[in-house]
Amino acid sequence: MPSFNLIDPALEPIAAKVAAGERLSREDGMTLYASNDLIGIGQMADHVRRTKNGDRVHFMVNRHINPTNICRNRCKFCAFARSEGEPGAYEMTLDEIAKAAAEGAADGAYEIHIVSGLHPEWSYEFYLDMVRRTREAVPDHVIVQAFTAVEIEHMAIIANKSTREVLADLKEAGLDALPGGGAEIFSDRTRAAAWDKKTSSDVWLRIHGEAHELGIKTNCTMLYGHIETIEERVDHLVRLREQQDESGGFLAFIPLAFHPANTELADLPATTGYDDLKTLAIARLMLDNIDHIKAFWIMVGLKVAQLSTAFGVDDIDGTVVEEKITHMAGATTPEALSKDDLVAMIRETGHTPVERDTLYRVVRVYE
Ligand code: SF4
Repeated sequence: MPSFNLIDPALEPIAAKVAAGERLSREDGMTLYASNDLIGIGQMADHVRRTKNGDRVHFMVNRHINPTNICRNRCKFCAFARSEGEPGAYEMTLDEIAKAAAEGAADGAYEIHIVSGLHPEWSYEFYLDMVRRTREAVPDHVIVQAFTAVEIEHMAIIANKSTREVLADLKEAGLDALPGGGAEIFSDRTRAAAWDKKTSSDVWLRIHGEAHELGIKTNCTMLYGHIETIEERVDHLVRLREQQDESGGFLAFIPLAFHPANTELADLPATTGYDDLKTLAIARLMLDNIDHIKAFWIMVGLKVAQLSTAFGVDDIDGTVVEEKITHMAGATTPEALSKDDLVAMIRETGHTPVERDTLYRVVRVYE
């Protein structure tokens, strides 16, 4: 049995459950957030991480493409979106998208990751062509991971189809996986206040369930550090866990630290390293049915991402090239990291760096 060196006695019943491999309750999630025993929480999360992933810490070589920032929604927290004709608005052609994908694959990417605004003029056929052209531009081993549930719902509206039909069409066109964005926080209160036009929580979860049933793996996220309460964070984790019990297709959970700069919520402070580490560790403890917890270094920064490998994280994402969404919201991290940088970062922590593809198939182990 593992033993944990706890300072906060309130964590002892939770430690007993973690040691026995039992599921934590919603109340346990609240107790964890109420505790300042970060090292104790981290030890428990590290135990769960080692049970699931050994001493491996994953990363991947991927290429992000954000084909347009023109978006009909204009959510309050989004620094990325523009309206048509506004300074800074851009849109890529299918040729440009295919070229970027081919360049990414030639540079060793195992994933082409496509996320965009909801362009008011793009047709359903354009989205299907985007997937077909991307698929044709890259070798078979490269995964095309594209479109959040928000974009899937948008396509269903413009095509007058169900979201399940849209997912089936996209799969036939060559889509392999969905990213986890657009979940934000599953709370009607926060959605009404900050992103009232965005896909509702129930629809987001339903779309991911449909994707899983069609054999399309997905990721899941939680945007934290804005106007949400701790109770809403815990509720979000519990709802993801319930969805995973039902449909089982989430590969990884990725907490996304909110970057307020350049948004309508610019008065809010950015998240702290303490909150980032605590949230990653609590996610590892609560999400017992999701194998991987990822620290997205673009959002939490390289130093917190590296530290997080001692707090339950087994994945520090990829060698992203040309990430626009978070940087337009004020992220000061570099836009790309080399494979050598990532391997060195992981090695320094004593873990074994493992290059993976989107589906967590091993590309290379760096012994
Ligand atoms: S968050 Fe997404 S849906 Fe909302 S404005 Fe930005 S790009 Fe559009």
